[in-house]
Amino acid sequence: MRILITGAAGFLGSHLCDRLLADGHNIVGMDNFITGNPDNIAHLAGNERFQFIKCDISNYIFAPGKVDAILHFASPASPNPQSKAGYFNLPIQTMKAGALGTLNCLGIARREGSRFLLASTSEIYGDPEIHPQVESYVGNVDPIGERAVYDEAKRFAESLTMAYHRFHGVNTAIVRIFNTYGPRMDLEDGRALPNFLKQALLGQALTVYGTGSQTRSFCFVDDLINGIVKLLYSDEHLPVNIGNPIEMTILEFAEAINKVVGNAAGIRFIEDARSARDPQRRQPDISRAREILNWQPQVNLEEGIRRTIPFFKQKLGLA
Ligand code: UDP
Repeated sequence: MRILITGAAGFLGSHLCDRLLADGHNIVGMDNFITGNPDNIAHLAGNERFQFIKCDISNYIFAPGKVDAILHFASPASPNPQSKAGYFNLPIQTMKAGALGTLNCLGIARREGSRFLLASTSEIYGDPEIHPQVESYVGNVDPIGERAVYDEAKRFAESLTMAYHRFHGVNTAIVRIFNTYGPRMDLEDGRALPNFLKQALLGQALTVYGTGSQTRSFCFVDDLINGIVKLLYSDEHLPVNIGNPIEMTILEFAEAINKVVGNAAGIRFIEDARSARDPQRRQPDISRAREILNWQPQVNLEEGIRRTIPFFKQKLGLA
């Protein structure tokens, strides 16, 4: 296939490029680098099956030639207010990527008869009132809340995707991605894994926000990419959760990282501006992914952290 990937220089986008090239496809990657990093795709320069176009997909997408599939992964995604690359500091771009970017991609998919896969998110469930989260749960999102620019952009993107499927018959797919970690994460994006692993490798105490009793379920990137590619190759149209269902508190997560790295500096509990709006529990119900895609994660947390460390060491100049 000839596959268009938006957000190709991002954490997930760049891993998708690698995987789909390995599967034998031709890739057209797009990114405007506001949160993506050219380093993530530098190794693809010179690959004759990889073409890169620097552009803002919210404006207009010029995609000459046939397009068999489109994976829409362009969007800021970190909720950290301190991070320059987070959506608090890029609120309008975030809404444009979810709304106009999705519209532009769907326009191409309609013209070309492509399979369109939308990167959606567990954030569409907001601060969930049911646990674990199943795809039929409609969510608990405040439309003017602090995370709304991301959550509502993705919710709109899902609605638009289903409208193109139902009204125009476009072959669409929606993946709801839960917390993911691995090599090529932005060390400065302020999320739990980059902060903790960086701190642990530098021998510092890990900054746990609040009491650390809030939970998340962390998936290693290779597992996530396998799930997404299986969804791409399937003919499923309704949303599918892809994530690791093993739930843990943020304190347990921090302690696991300290243990794997061998960091004796411990934990530092700090108040964070996020605490009030931090979703308290998050865990994917992956029954649909298991049934429809025959997919489930294979990499446990310890192994995933070990496989992430070399990238962090290299970025920190410790390698
Ligand atoms: N967190 C933390 N310390 C940090 C960064 C994050 O305790 O240095 C917590 C944060 O409050 C949240 C969880 O880790 O409860 C996951 O945050 P992240 O930013 O990774 O993603 P989210 O799941 O909130 O989108």
